[in-house]
Amino acid sequence: MAGIYFHIPFCKSSCVYCDFYHTIDLRRIEELEKCMYRELEERRTYLEQEVIESIYFGGGTPSLLKPETILLFIDSIRSWFKIDSKPEITLEANPDDISRDFIKALRRAGINRISLGVQSFQDFVLEFMGRRHTANKALKSIDIIRREGIINVSVDLIYGSPGYTTNHLLRDLQILERLDIPHFSAYLLTPEKGTLLYQKISDGEVTLPGEEEQFEQYMSLCEFSARNGYRHYEISNFCKGDFIARHNKGYWEGKIYCGIGPSAHSYNGNSRRWNISSLYHYILAIKEGRQYYEEEQLSGKDRYNEYLLTALRTDEGVRPETIRENFGKDLEENFVKGISKFAGKGYVEFYKGRCRLTDQGMFISDSIISSLFLT
Ligand code: SF4
Repeated sequence: MAGIYFHIPFCKSSCVYCDFYHTIDLRRIEELEKCMYRELEERRTYLEQEVIESIYFGGGTPSLLKPETILLFIDSIRSWFKIDSKPEITLEANPDDISRDFIKALRRAGINRISLGVQSFQDFVLEFMGRRHTANKALKSIDIIRREGIINVSVDLIYGSPGYTTNHLLRDLQILERLDIPHFSAYLLTPEKGTLLYQKISDGEVTLPGEEEQFEQYMSLCEFSARNGYRHYEISNFCKGDFIARHNKGYWEGKIYCGIGPSAHSYNGNSRRWNISSLYHYILAIKEGRQYYEEEQLSGKDRYNEYLLTALRTDEGVRPETIRENFGKDLEENFVKGISKFAGKGYVEFYKGRCRLTDQGMFISDSIISSLFLT
């Protein structure tokens, strides 16, 4: 099974925390669509004969695309690739782009899952982040999406903003629960270098909650999800029933995928490839038939580190036996010895022949996982 990702880098404005590749110059949308179409056609053999299980339109703001363009991409995949009989086809959308006609057209194009960038139901947070919608608009958008028949809805939340307390987080989560949202992602606001948020913090204009408060919010999130029947299946992802995000799950399970568009990444089992993060250079390279990506072959060490990095993010964790089968007995022993140190501190648990991070462990997953890497 495999996935296809489209990166649509256009946004109407920039959010304060954003470090995804995006541009607010919307003049070249159609030109880019044509180039991405060419890239898709050129790469029809990249995934060999693997069946496409999921298609994901991410960004940027893919809800700025016309539904006809989305239909063209999906139809092309159907004719150029082998596709599952019931693929998951997700579009990331901003609430301010949602209307009944738009959702109707998306459904006709084949979209069956919407990932909605709500971020918060608190207007003061939305304003601070530079989002273009209000809490009320987010609620209306969710209502429209479901009334128009898309029930597989995921909501993105961001916690840890200035002035955002555990009570605010619980109120946001209660809204999701009341609306019976089957999937949500909750991310801690992180000031990445180069973002406006980072600048504001460096200038002393903004202060984020301290680590203790961040941890309290994270644990409230975990407890809330457990109490309300959400499976915490990945560090930042929660679902009910079988509404797991199949596309993202594919990344964490090491499945292969093909990324189309500027800054999109691809993986074919042996190498990783990343397209140039520049609209200008991507378009120019495609038009001139030049290389628009960089690529690296993965060594055994890379593959082992990637396996730990992805598997330990999930509630299925790592099966030491899998390490033995794929990487040898020495690495299995090395892994068990390394991870056992964290078990005593309550960060790791052993479960049905697997070991996985506890909620506390997930909060500090970066430092745990990197300590287990081969260097
Ligand atoms: S809408 Fe998304 S991609 Fe665009 S600036 Fe905001 S966070 Fe970044």
